[in-house]
Amino acid sequence: MSDAASPMCLPDHPGADADLLGQLRAIVGRRHVLTGESATRPFAHGIRFGAGAVLAVVQPGTLVAQWRVLCACVAAGVIVIAQAANTGLTGGSSPDGSYDRPVVIVSTRRLRGLHLIRQGRQVVCLPGATLYELEAVLRPLGREPHSVIGSSCIGASVMGGICNNSGGALVRRGPAYSELALYARVDAHGRLELVNHLGIALGDDPETMLARLESGRFGPADIADAEDRSASDHGYADHVRQIDADTPARFNADPTRLFEASGSAGKIMLFAVRLDTFAKDRDTRVFYIGTNDPAELTALRRAILGSFANLPVAGEYMHRDCFDIAARYGKDTYLAIQKLGTDRIPALFAAKARVDGLRFMPAGLTDRIIQFVADRLPSHLPPRLLAWRDRYEHHLILRMADDGIAEAYDWLSRHFPSASGGFFECTPAEAEGAFLHRFAAAGAANRYRAVHHRTVENIVALDIALPRNCEDWVEHLPPEIAAPILHRLYYGHFLCHVFHQDYIVAKGTDCVALENAMLPLLDRRGAEYPAEHNVGHLYHAKPALAQHYATLDPCNVFNPGIGHTCRDARPPATA
Ligand SMILES: Cc1cc2nc3c(=O)[nH]c(=O)nc-3n(C[C@H](O)[C@H](O)[C@H](O)COP(=O)(O)OP(=O)(O)OC[C@H]3O[C@@H](n4cnc5c(N)ncnc54)[C@H](O)[C@@H]3O)c2cc1C
Repeated sequence: MSDAASPMCLPDHPGADADLLGQLRAIVGRRHVLTGESATRPFAHGIRFGAGAVLAVVQPGTLVAQWRVLCACVAAGVIVIAQAANTGLTGGSSPDGSYDRPVVIVSTRRLRGLHLIRQGRQVVCLPGATLYELEAVLRPLGREPHSVIGSSCIGASVMGGICNNSGGALVRRGPAYSELALYARVDAHGRLELVNHLGIALGDDPETMLARLESGRFGPADIADAEDRSASDHGYADHVRQIDADTPARFNADPTRLFEASGSAGKIMLFAVRLDTFAKDRDTRVFYIGTNDPAELTALRRAILGSFANLPVAGEYMHRDCFDIAARYGKDTYLAIQKLGTDRIPALFAAKARVDGLRFMPAGLTDRIIQFVADRLPSHLPPRLLAWRDRYEHHLILRMADDGIAEAYDWLSRHFPSASGGFFECTPAEAEGAFLHRFAAAGAANRYRAVHHRTVENIVALDIALPRNCEDWVEHLPPEIAAPILHRLYYGHFLCHVFHQDYIVAKGTDCVALENAMLPLLDRRGAEYPAEHNVGHLYHAKPALAQHYATLDPCNVFNPGIGHTCRDARPPATA
């Protein structure tokens, strides 16, 4: 593993350099340097949160061009924000507010490509490779990536997931994590260096290394086993089973999951990550469980994690109120994925974003038109799901694999039906419908806000991880906090005890004050937040995370201000 340093220094007087745009155009071509408000808007705004002005958005087409762009930006003293698909929910890959230096977004969407290594048991992903592409490449090998639904459906990159320690629904896998990466950083002396911790011998000259990597000009002899570095979170399956531990199973600021690229949130510039892939289960079945007594789900969670021989594939929770909002306001998402397939969804999202970005387009109009159409379509949910909705307040969608199927069926049959709960084994169509419905819940609050903009002030969206030993997982809000909330959407990854809590708040409410009033309640419950969407510009980075950022980026060149950390340049140390 080698470090290739380039003798670049931050200039004494950082600032916008008129030459910079010219240099960037020379490197990537004129049409891949976007300037001006309307051209840069889709990149300079987060999909749910945050926005800021940028000098330019640059879209390199090769890793060598990406490196040269970075060299030019560092030499010019501008801020660099790396951006992949920009699907993060907390604005982590877009600017927010104003800065002390001009901002250049380096968009990596053109840098597609991945190389399977070690018979497909691992993969090297370039910056723009998407989870969906990785899933497609692995399918014929009977393998799959860390995440297979959720962020994959909306075109998220593999790399964005590593930078965010993204979570997801898959109980056995834990957060996206790797200790093997090829990245550039600016050290404390202001020098840009390329760090090869990929475990693949590529040489010493940065451009030669990057060109070799991109074209796949390396063979088995160049690839070290790198057993001393993990390419996934190997310990998570044991960790999540510790049901008596008083800490959460996973959260973004967990110091044990912060390692170079993992959790870096744009504080370095990544060129490649090396990751484990996972054997696909032979057979899976889905059980749909409903109850009016949350203690029944607590008992189920503790039995599964504490004593089952086989961990589930997924265990997704939805409250009935969330079920209802998703049934109406997530209907088009559900139908689009069901009818068109997940591969078309990123293009649909992009097309909608382009229309929304048109100067003359009133905010939320496309959402209201789509909702108008969706409301007129026939009911889309399988009848048994709707029957369970009428009977039960709390819903759990449990996917088991292989030997775990009989194990779960046996436990469920012994405990249900009860006075307050019941379960059924889903048909394949019901299983698909249950998970699509759960996925559609993630965007339903946003749609509600757009449609009911006259009565809704905004959404307070919390992403929390409860301690693994928490048994009282249902939230009880005091009346003064609950009063201005029109609807509460509770859904999440129940077995990991990660919950997404979207509160739709009435017009005229101070949402920041409301959120600030909620956080001490979470602190008292021992919750960590954010759990998996990362801090972005929404949450404060806790000390371990802020330290990770400062260590990676001592001069504060990359994505400054993330997690409400300092936004200003830090002068390079003198040698
Ligand atoms: C509907 C929906 C469902 C979701 N479900 C889940 C879920 O279940 N679990 C979960 O954890 N998340 C979920 N997410 C969020 C998901 O984690 C993020 O959207 C995704 O990880 C970000 O990938 P991206 O390609 O959009 O990266 P971006 O948002 O573009 O970037 C993410 C971070 O990575 C950095 N970055 C990107 N590329 C580079 C690079 N080359 N070098 C250095 N830094 C880089 C950025 O600066 C930023 O900090 C969901 C999102 C949506 C919209």
